Amino acid sequence: MQEIKANLYPCRHCNESGTCTSGKDGSSCQACVKQHELKGKQPHFGLACGTCNGIGQAEPTTERMNKRIKPMLALGIVFLVLIFTFSLAVTKNQYFTEFLAFAGTLMGSVTAFYFSHAKNT
Ligand SMILES: [Zn+2]
Ligand SMILES: [Zn+2]
Repeated sequence: MQEIKANLYPCRHCNESGTCTSGKDGSSCQACVKQHELKGKQPHFGLACGTCNGIGQAEPTTERMNKRIKPMLALGIVFLVLIFTFSLAVTKNQYFTEFLAFAGTLMGSVTAFYFSHAKNT
């Protein structure tokens, strides 16, 4: 697998410190307390920031989603096309040759897009 470079941005929740101090008197906020599954009413101090997991740099959620969805989408299309091709072949459909040409082009562009995209990220 290639190393995937992430588009990180400085975490605003913890000011890149990685420690949440946005609560009362420099304690960690409720959201981060919840993230750590801590209970109790007393304030927690020095908890790792729940937004960036204590790294100080956070990855945009949309970007993370895109990285997972795009390969899945490409795989899904290829899989669907394979099923269609197979079922057309089995039923000896008269449009089989036309579909095969279309499928070939589609598969080619999907894989080309996927591989070029994977290289660029
Ligand atoms: Zn943070
Ligand atoms: Zn917090």
